[in-house]
Amino acid sequence: MIIILKKDATVEQIEEVSTRLKEEGFKIHLSQGVEKTIMGAIGDRMRIEALDLEALPWVEKVVPILAPYKLVSREFHPTDTIIRVGGQEIGGDTVHVMAGPCAVESRAQILESAHAVREAGATFLRGGAFKPRTSPYSFQGLEEEGLRYLAEARDQTGLLVITEVIDAQDVSLVANYADVLQIGARNMQNFVLLREVAKCGKPVLLKRGPSATLEEWMMAAEYIMAGGNYQVMFCERGIRTFETYTRNTLDLSMVPALHALSHLPVIVDPSHGTGIRSLVHPMAKAALAAGADSLIVEVHPHPEKAVSDGKQSLTPELFQIMMDDLARLVPVLDRKLGKVN
Ligand code: PEP
Ligand code: MN
Repeated sequence: MIIILKKDATVEQIEEVSTRLKEEGFKIHLSQGVEKTIMGAIGDRMRIEALDLEALPWVEKVVPILAPYKLVSREFHPTDTIIRVGGQEIGGDTVHVMAGPCAVESRAQILESAHAVREAGATFLRGGAFKPRTSPYSFQGLEEEGLRYLAEARDQTGLLVITEVIDAQDVSLVANYADVLQIGARNMQNFVLLREVAKCGKPVLLKRGPSATLEEWMMAAEYIMAGGNYQVMFCERGIRTFETYTRNTLDLSMVPALHALSHLPVIVDPSHGTGIRSLVHPMAKAALAAGADSLIVEVHPHPEKAVSDGKQSLTPELFQIMMDDLARLVPVLDRKLGKVN
């Protein structure tokens, strides 16, 4: 249920509504816009009807949200959410390209990658220090050592760091080093982990599970918001379909669908979305044309030597070519490319 308060409602009046709802067992989430204050009340719908809040002169309207996702919904926050991190904004008119290798493999590899992607115009450095691998025998990541190298790369380049956290126990460790925490596709419905990142104080990039429906994905974001972290962005990274030519099927229809249903930014990952190097650049353009707020792309200085996802990793040269192309496309879409601060 959302309660829309009149423009001139005072802090005390807002507080009164909130207190009445809390007394009835509701959980309250406030969304304070320039135009209106919207209160999200999660609880028993029948009780809200009995409260008759519309009788209060400073309450404009009480609207039920019929969809199971509430805080994530456009109704709760009619304007686009802009996530502010390290002086950058995600979800506004600036398109960011987050780039880097699949995994942090060594200090030299991540530093070389960071300088290369920064040179080409990326604003965020990606790289996994904890790797959720399909096989237990594959490289699992450098863990804290990898996080330290990412932080060093940030210090050297000014790029912000996005990296994956795979275990609830490691959330505060990863949050100590990263600017944005990534929840990987395989963990989209790891509810313990979602509850933990809700408490970390850092923005979260939530990848779509390989077989998750739109609603399941939105409900996963709802977990993070319900836990008090409103800085959530979706990331479409392809789903499992009957097609085996590509690694996944990049479902770009999710971009406008999410924008219609939710206020949260939408990022697209054309690397995992296709699994094929030559498809990354065209799908990155398609993603932006569909309205994606930013991109996350795998780039490796020597893809043939990469310990993971080499086949889908761009070389720095190909990344530069893609970035030059995006620099021409983005203004046509009334947006601009991000720059390192
Ligand atoms: C990754 O970003 O390297 C990764 C493991 O992605 P996903 O969770 O989408 O498979
Ligand atoms: Mn990868």
